Amino acid sequence: MQFQTILDEINTEIRPLLGTGGAVATYIPALARVSPLQFGIALRTFGGQEAAAGDSATPFSIQSMSKVFSLTLAMRSLGETLWQRIGREPSGSPFNSLVQLETERGIPRNPFINAGAIAVADRLLSQGDAKTNLLALLSDLCGEAIHIDAEVAHSEADTGFRNAALANFMKAFGTLDNNTAQVLDVYFNQCAISMNCVQVARAAGYLCRDGAPPYAGPRVITEAQTRRVNALMLTCGTYDAAGEFAFRIGLPCKSGVGGGIVAVVPDTLTLCVWSPALDATGNSHLGRIALELFVTKTGLSVF
Ligand code: GLU
Repeated sequence: MQFQTILDEINTEIRPLLGTGGAVATYIPALARVSPLQFGIALRTFGGQEAAAGDSATPFSIQSMSKVFSLTLAMRSLGETLWQRIGREPSGSPFNSLVQLETERGIPRNPFINAGAIAVADRLLSQGDAKTNLLALLSDLCGEAIHIDAEVAHSEADTGFRNAALANFMKAFGTLDNNTAQVLDVYFNQCAISMNCVQVARAAGYLCRDGAPPYAGPRVITEAQTRRVNALMLTCGTYDAAGEFAFRIGLPCKSGVGGGIVAVVPDTLTLCVWSPALDATGNSHLGRIALELFVTKTGLSVF
């Protein structure tokens, strides 16, 4: 398939739509300053072919897309015991909801809502230097050094009152072992990791390769674990719009409030789209349209 031609076509179709819908996230001040008039798309195939178009080399804040990689690290080091403290069901509630956590006695519904990712961060902290380990994983996966945007991390820490509430709630229920300030520091920093579309498409490569890394090296996670990460992305990866994403696109996806969405076509390719303006569900407005265009043009979907 001529992937470069397809991505060029999508870029051409999306450009006129820039600025016509959605809005950048404003609850994290550093994200509010990002221009919404940007769109990038990149992919990497199972065999290593790459294609990219638009602002695919512009770094952006990966935000909740980082939760895929922190989950990967936690599954790798903890295996099944991870699931003693974290569920695997869609939440049906906003990603930062406190209500569900109270009624379900401090056990987050899944690892992709904020509470779940904070619980994963706690587990990683118990294993060692979580920030360094996550950056090392991402750098290994995409073959170049990956960094945290310190300004975004500070911005998150200054305004992350709901996340602090979630962490304290879970601490009270015994879901977290570590000091909540340290756990939140890991969480805020992982959300503040900066990458571009090409790097994300590369880093996620193991998700279309049954857990084998995009470049040489040891297996990232097992084949069964890879299936599970993809399943969670499909059912829980796009906030309250996971059903709509499955309906319209039919691929495991994980979005972030920085406007990125990473998608997986198992056994075939990984794809990253980015455009900062978000729709009412918190997903990239044009990113979702671009993914629909991609699936329509290629016929690639798990369904
Ligand atoms: N850092 C953001 C938060 O904690 C991440 C949200 C997201 O991308 O879903 O609210």
